[in-house]
Amino acid sequence: MKKIAILGSTGSIGSALFDIVKKDSKKFKIELLTANKNYRKLLKQIKFFNVKNIIVTDLKTFYKIKTILKDKDINIYNDFNSLKKIFKNKKIDYIMSAISGLDGLKPTLDIIKFTKIIAIANKEALICGWTIINKLLKKFKTQFIPVDSEHFSIWYALKNDNIKNIEKIFLTASGGPFLRLSLSKFKDINIKQALKHPKWKMGKKISIDSATMMNKVFEVIEAKNIFNLSYDKISILIHPESYVHAILKFNNGLIKIIGHETSMKIPIFNTLYLNTQKTLKTNTLDINKLNNLNLNSVEYNRYPVVKLLHNLPEVCSLYETVLVSANDELVRLFLEGKIKFTDIFTQLSKLNIFNKYKKIKPKNINEIIKLNKYVRLKIAAISV
Ligand code: NDP
Ligand code: MG
Repeated sequence: MKKIAILGSTGSIGSALFDIVKKDSKKFKIELLTANKNYRKLLKQIKFFNVKNIIVTDLKTFYKIKTILKDKDINIYNDFNSLKKIFKNKKIDYIMSAISGLDGLKPTLDIIKFTKIIAIANKEALICGWTIINKLLKKFKTQFIPVDSEHFSIWYALKNDNIKNIEKIFLTASGGPFLRLSLSKFKDINIKQALKHPKWKMGKKISIDSATMMNKVFEVIEAKNIFNLSYDKISILIHPESYVHAILKFNNGLIKIIGHETSMKIPIFNTLYLNTQKTLKTNTLDINKLNNLNLNSVEYNRYPVVKLLHNLPEVCSLYETVLVSANDELVRLFLEGKIKFTDIFTQLSKLNIFNKYKKIKPKNINEIIKLNKYVRLKIAAISV
């Protein structure tokens, strides 16, 4: 039996993993599940797998769930300081880190030592805290697998290859809901339009990031960090069919193209069943789709945030936290109807006041959390 844990088990990634494990329940023991507010879903998950340890971070929800489960033999914690008690300094087989936002960084760092394999979906952690994550992965000899579809594809395609043999990596982007919208209409984009992603069903924040293309900017940073590449080796291609996730061009002239249906179940499944013969049933391959794989370069006028990549430091710095935090706050303001869609880029292009952070390497999580709060406050001030 494989021992596993899911951080953010009630979310879109966490639930997708839970459903995969549920179909093969005899092979897995879930040691820990964590959630924030969705106690209904968490209760169902606990019951199905008879889970003995849970962490519920939202205080109100924590007390609620404590009352509901008061007669059960289940350890319920409110924060991640309890990990030592839960794992008793032993490594389990696999952990999925799928809490959303920068709040997922600390739990990710804290849990690395308790698992043989960690699959990390949390983008913010990989963008802002990679240097710290990488240090811990090495220290505790934990294997890391990326979950984001593009990064999983690259990781999979690279398996037996050296990163030095790469000439270029292309990440694909669907182009989001505004791929064909007339540029003159961008100033009138409303929340509903921006949330309507043509290919992926996702949460609100990430849907807006897809509409602006900020999601892909983050993914380029993520790829640079994970695979230790320089920015000039990574490009974005618009690919509306969203079938291809990554293209790797090698120095020997060969190209590897990794594609799969637009379902996160595929990368998630493969992080879990690594090196096994387990089969995943997917829809049959659509030849029409393969005959129509459009790949185009990015129009900067349509997706101006992509220009931000030209000003990023090659070495992992605290400036990435500035970008993540500022964008997070701007998306929040847009979703609350306080700023326009186009204001997101306008404000992101004015972050020069934070340039000094480009020279500072993140050393610990407190620096990242403090800076995140500071940037958010500065950005929030623009809406009042
Ligand atoms: P969701 O918003 O669907 O789920 C987030 C999960 O984290 C939920 O379990 C939620 O709990 C929990 N959570 C939220 N806030 C906190 C907090 N402050 N403390 C502890 N737990 C918290 O997110 P997704 O599953 O979509 O994404 C998770 C991560 O994976 C994100 O970083 C995202 O960028 C990344 N990712 C997602 C992809 C996707 O297709 N969805 C693709 C690639 C990467 P609760 O529900 O109980 O409130
Ligand atoms: Mg992605």
